[in-house]
Amino acid sequence: MRVLIIEDEPELARHITRALTRYGHSASAQHDGAAGLQAALDDPPDLVVLDLNLPGLHGGEVLQRLRGAQSPARIIILTARGSVEDRVRGLKSGADDYLAKPFSMEELAARVDALGRRGGPTAADGVLKVADLRMDVPQRRVSRAGVPVALSPREFEVLQVLMQEPGRVFSRTELCERVWHRDHEYDTRTVEIFITRLRRKVDLPSSPPLIHTLRSVGYTIRAADWPARLLPLPPPP
Ligand code: CA
Repeated sequence: MRVLIIEDEPELARHITRALTRYGHSASAQHDGAAGLQAALDDPPDLVVLDLNLPGLHGGEVLQRLRGAQSPARIIILTARGSVEDRVRGLKSGADDYLAKPFSMEELAARVDALGRRGGPTAADGVLKVADLRMDVPQRRVSRAGVPVALSPREFEVLQVLMQEPGRVFSRTELCERVWHRDHEYDTRTVEIFITRLRRKVDLPSSPPLIHTLRSVGYTIRAADWPARLLPLPPPP
C-alpha cells in the first residue's frame, strides 16, 4: 500500500517509514499538519498514519478536512497513551483505527495490513507496488526499479495474487485455487514451478529478493529485511 505518515517527530517518522517499507509498503513522511494535508490531497495515498499533536494544523483538523474532501484513504491516528478523549473524537471524525504511543512497529504493521484487507487489495488506480516492484494491473505491465519485466499471463496472475496482499503467506493449495481454480494436490507442483519462474524474472541477483518461501507453509512477497540483505546471495539454481 501507499502510506503517508504525518508525524512531527523526525526520528519517529523515520522509524515508521523504514518499518513500513520493510513490510512491503511504499511510505513517505510529512512533518507538519498543513503540509501533510496538502500531500494527502495532491496525491491520495491508500493509508494515512496521522499524529494528532502536530504543528501547523492539528491532526484532528487534518482528519476532518480529509474526510470533508471525500478522501478514500484509510486513516490510523496516533494518540498519546491514555488520551481516551482524543481517540474517541478521532474515531468519530472518521479515523479507521488508532494506536497509542509508544507502540511497536510490529503492531503498526499489523494494523496497516488489517486495514489494507478491509479496504480491498487493489489501489484505486489499479497499480500494485512492493518496494521497487510495480504492477499496473489494467495495463498488464510489470517493472522492477523501472525496468520492464516480461511475464506470461499465468505468471502475471500468480504475482498479482501475491502483490495484492504483501506480507501475507499463501499456501501452494491456496495459490492453486486462486490462479488455476483447482485444488488437486497434483497442481501444487505447478505452483512451485511458477514461483521459480517468477523469481528468475523478478528477483535479479542485483536486487534484494522480494519473493520469499516459508518452508512447508507457502510463499509471500515483501520487501527484503535489512538483515537478510547482509547475507551472501544463494548460488544460482
Ligand atoms: Ca506530535
